[in-house]
Amino acid sequence: MTETTGLALGLRALTKRYGPVTALEPTDLDIGAGEFLTLLGPSGSGKTTLLNLIAGYTEPSGGTIRIGARDVTRTPARHRNIGMVFQSYALFPHMTVAQNLAYGLEARRVPKAEIARRVEAALALMQLEGYGNRGVQQMSGGQQQRVAVARALVIEPDVLLMDEPLGALDRQLRRQVQVELRRLHLKHGRTTIYVTHDQEEALVLSDRIAVMGKGRIQQLGSAAELYARPANSFIAGFIGESNLPEARVTSVAGGMALADIPALGLSIEAPVVPGVAPGAPARLMIRPEHLRLLPDAGEGQDAGEGIGARIIEVIYLGELTQFGLETSRGAFLVARGMEGRGLRQGDTVRLGWSPRDVLIVPDTGP
Ligand code: ADP
Ligand code: MG
Repeated sequence: MTETTGLALGLRALTKRYGPVTALEPTDLDIGAGEFLTLLGPSGSGKTTLLNLIAGYTEPSGGTIRIGARDVTRTPARHRNIGMVFQSYALFPHMTVAQNLAYGLEARRVPKAEIARRVEAALALMQLEGYGNRGVQQMSGGQQQRVAVARALVIEPDVLLMDEPLGALDRQLRRQVQVELRRLHLKHGRTTIYVTHDQEEALVLSDRIAVMGKGRIQQLGSAAELYARPANSFIAGFIGESNLPEARVTSVAGGMALADIPALGLSIEAPVVPGVAPGAPARLMIRPEHLRLLPDAGEGQDAGEGIGARIIEVIYLGELTQFGLETSRGAFLVARGMEGRGLRQGDTVRLGWSPRDVLIVPDTGP
């Protein structure tokens, strides 16, 4: 985590309902000063709702919001000292770059000389020196996005909020601006909440990631924590990739479960995360990179060694090769690695894994 000197933001039981739709279930969240936290989740999971509640653009149905020591639950947006960057940039189209930046400072009655100084500093921060007098419509998408960030930063917000700010940029430019945003954060350490549906972007930028699904924070942690111990099958499939065959758990003790895996025709013992219980829906998580392919020795091989499967697809990814596999029970699995060069579509193989690389997780359903 980047330098943390206290709590910047605290949410308690924060909730938003639109009639019968609960956009945000009661949510608790603490964000440290200087932290970069990402809300990651599919479309409709409540990310924008949560961000707009913090900004004060949306009224909560319940709960409280603190910024530093202040309870701002009923404070109007313009008095919360929050910087916001939208996917659409929302720049004033008929103003120059400098006028866009000065707007928020003028509204706060900052003296003219100081406005000029702060606008220059914010432009420099985003590598936009000399662009102050340009009309924003004369600038490229990437430049407009930088202006939007500069405009959010110029007011020296207590918290910087960004809602899918790179969504309108092409992939290459997005990668470039991600790295810039990360550098900017490491250098200035402004508390930031960033929204994206792109897991790669979340991994590049964040100190911690809150994975959202169905109006709830499903899990909060560092990228490494979410990857190693996903709380459920939704997280396992959303952070990185995973094979997730059904697991029928028969017993759980000491962090280990006994389970039948019908798709693999196996009974196994594997570590579990909280929430796994006999009879409750569960899945076995096997990451593609943890699935080993052993050439099939053919007749006479010990049938206990691994699971028989046929390679139905081979995709070259450069350094790695990805294999689509069909087990004898008709289950589809994905493996990825450097081993198995020379294996081809149609070959039969045996699959294995190290027991400490798999995990049984609760099944969260579709
Ligand atoms: P995300 O940003 O993760 O895509 P949103 O926060 O925009 O998700 O939406 C969460 C849920 O709340 C969705 O089901 C959406 O349809 C609903 N929702 C959001 N805003 C409104 C609104 N103004 N009126 C009614 N429903 C809304
Ligand atoms: Mg959204």
